[in-house]
Amino acid sequence: MQHVFGPVPSRRLGFSLGVDIIPPKYCSYDCIYCQIGKTTDKEIRRRSFYDPRIVTGQVIDAVSTGKTIDIVTFSGSGEPTLNSDLGVMIRELKKSISIPVAVITNGSLLWDEDVRRDLAEADIVLPSLDAVSEDVFKRINRPHPSLDVEKILEGLTIFRKEYSKKIWLEIMLIRKVNDDPDELKKMAQIVAALNVDRIQLNTVTRPPSEETAGRLEESELTAICGLFGPACEVICSFDKATEMPAQAEWTNIILETLRRRPLTFDDMVKVTGLSHFQAKTRLKVLEKEGVIRSYVLGDALFYVIA
Ligand code: SF4
Repeated sequence: MQHVFGPVPSRRLGFSLGVDIIPPKYCSYDCIYCQIGKTTDKEIRRRSFYDPRIVTGQVIDAVSTGKTIDIVTFSGSGEPTLNSDLGVMIRELKKSISIPVAVITNGSLLWDEDVRRDLAEADIVLPSLDAVSEDVFKRINRPHPSLDVEKILEGLTIFRKEYSKKIWLEIMLIRKVNDDPDELKKMAQIVAALNVDRIQLNTVTRPPSEETAGRLEESELTAICGLFGPACEVICSFDKATEMPAQAEWTNIILETLRRRPLTFDDMVKVTGLSHFQAKTRLKVLEKEGVIRSYVLGDALFYVIA
């Protein structure tokens, strides 16, 4: 299995080499805005999913190709801290490569000492926090039944005390779900006490899991940013013009990879970082143009250069 994808240009991290260590779709949440799709295995139990040597070997191989890679980022098809080998993998990479390592996490398991110990190895941790009230938390993140807001905040607080490197906290804002002024005010107070290095506001810019998950306008996000103080920034792009080069970059990455080996649709999504909807649309165009073709093998649909 291919665990490494990209490097993909990321607004937050530069050229990021993604490392997927979770099968779709193991997660402790089932967020209404999730771009991967609905959670099939809602879990808080950690386990070893793959041989860590295979995963780290793929990362080291990718880094040795000499491509521009600013950061190696653990993320992928679910919640990466559910993988109990996360710390082993980060430690191994830190011994072998000089590129910083980041982990994008939903932050729901930080109350677990083992998770915090694993994350302590990373150079940047990017947790999420979308709600500070129980009802809003349940509506937006649809968490595992054993999780509640108090537990999440407790985990974040302890982690901040123990971890002296960078924490960038992402808040996904959804219209009429967590954009109520009272919730935002309460959230700003709690987040201020967490003392994270950056607060990054996002909204839905790709097709979400639930169509009812509506985006906020740029002006609204900018106004909300004011509540969170100088460490806050808006990280989603509303500018169509700036999306065009990413699309061209995506086509290059796909064609370059297809020249070496066939890819399934899911591989394509991982390699490009595009949503399922965007990837489908672009693949249709490339197929129509006769640049690529598809065929079914077993249960999977593969793409190759035509
Ligand atoms: S935490 Fe991430 S992977 Fe899990 S459901 Fe939410 S958005 Fe999807």
